[in-house]
Amino acid sequence: MTAQEIRQAFLDFFESKGHKIVPSAPIVSKDDPTLMFTNAGMNQFKDYFLGNQTPEVPRIADTQKCMRVSGKHNDLEDVGRDGTHHTMFEMLGNWSFGDYFKKEAIAWSWELLTEVYNIPKENLYATVFGGDEEEGLPADEEAKSFWLEYLPEDHILYGNKKDNFWEMGDTGPCGPCSEIHIDLRSDARKAEVPGRDLVNMDHPEVIEIWNNVFIQFNRKADGSLEKLKASHVDTGMGFERLCMVLQGKTVTYDTDVFTPIIRKIEALTGKKYGGSFTPDAKSDMAMRVVADHLRAVAFTIADGQLPSNTGAGYVIRRILRRAVRYYYSFLDVNAPMIHQLLPVMVAEMGTFFPELKAQQGQIAKIIEAEEKTFLNTLEKGISRFESIEPKDGVIHGEDAFSLYDTYGFPIDLTRLMAEERDLKVDEAGFEAALAAQKARARADAHKKVGDWHIVRDGEEVEFVGYDHLTVEDAHV
Ligand code: ATP
Ligand code: MG
Ligand code: MG
Ligand code: MG
Repeated sequence: MTAQEIRQAFLDFFESKGHKIVPSAPIVSKDDPTLMFTNAGMNQFKDYFLGNQTPEVPRIADTQKCMRVSGKHNDLEDVGRDGTHHTMFEMLGNWSFGDYFKKEAIAWSWELLTEVYNIPKENLYATVFGGDEEEGLPADEEAKSFWLEYLPEDHILYGNKKDNFWEMGDTGPCGPCSEIHIDLRSDARKAEVPGRDLVNMDHPEVIEIWNNVFIQFNRKADGSLEKLKASHVDTGMGFERLCMVLQGKTVTYDTDVFTPIIRKIEALTGKKYGGSFTPDAKSDMAMRVVADHLRAVAFTIADGQLPSNTGAGYVIRRILRRAVRYYYSFLDVNAPMIHQLLPVMVAEMGTFFPELKAQQGQIAKIIEAEEKTFLNTLEKGISRFESIEPKDGVIHGEDAFSLYDTYGFPIDLTRLMAEERDLKVDEAGFEAALAAQKARARADAHKKVGDWHIVRDGEEVEFVGYDHLTVEDAHV
């Protein structure tokens, strides 16, 4: 099955079970102050779970554009280093708002995976919440009993709060969850160690694919759990991981979600992708990172968030600069490249996500301009980095700050380059230098109000009149 068919089969299946198919919410989270980017399919339904709003229909399914690069769910460090974590990914999901519960959710996950996608049953494992004394929560024997209808007991495992109690962030809807894992090892390897011993062990071939969350609580700001009036189902399945499983791969980059992009990178660089994950295979790693980051940046811009120096805009700028540094250092490219990959990505995804196609030209221009700006200082920044003399294996905060301030190196890029040389960065020192600069910028802003310009968080913004100033601005 192609990626497109796999996505459609999911949506068709849940439509046949009475779900309304809705579009993905934007990847940039605009209405929720607790979140910068959408990190799960359920975000847009938060108010339905909390009972603040009533959904039009009690069953919904979709594919959601997600990003996990900040806050509670941050996978940036794993991207490129493993074959299953991305910055931007699609999360397929089905929801029940006070309608069906554990029994149906489990039955339908099983039916879809084994009868529609034909995944061999013996490769599947399920985990259920094992309870938590501190929270006063019991083990989820109910979920286990439903799984026992499909799986032998030794394919069902109890998990701890970290893996089997899903929370969207520090606050918000949450509940015990039941995950489905798949063992993709060869028979010979399976004979060596039982799959159940490798579930949740970060094994590259025993992989989590789907999470069924049974939302019953709201985590409040004081840390307590409040029982919700109704019980809901919230599921999330990684689309790229599902494609990987169904296309007989163990790495998402080997599926048709990514191969056209990787082929284009090969064509532009004249280098071959070897698919290696060893630390010395830098160009393979760089190709994965570039292919991944392209998607994050393109979807974010398509949803209206431009690269900038603050908030979500800065996260996207950091990701883009990280990708530029990877192709510059490891693929020997010193001219803008990412924008040239966009047509390939849009050809693949633009039908399902028309926002990409509609703004393709604009997105490409923005990416190219960002690439150019950073490439202008990157080489000098790298020599500056190399001339830094670390003390006891630590790069001074002021040095990290000068890389940021003069050469546009985000701190996570400096950290990454430091790690490559077994060095650490004095991040507290960096933060202090940054805070000092912000204080200076604020003082400047005060002076500049007379010119109808203010500087906010170090970035110059147009001064549009006192009506638009917030209380915080009033202090600058
Ligand atoms: P993992 O343990 O692999 O980090 P998770 O438990 O953090 O995954 P969930 O929050 O349960 O993930 O999200 C639901 C599903 O989304 C996962 O089962 C997985 O298939 C997929 N997923 C999660 N994070 C990523 C990611 N960074 N890239 C691609 N798919 C992901
Ligand atoms: Mg995770
Ligand atoms: Mg997990
Ligand atoms: Mg999970």
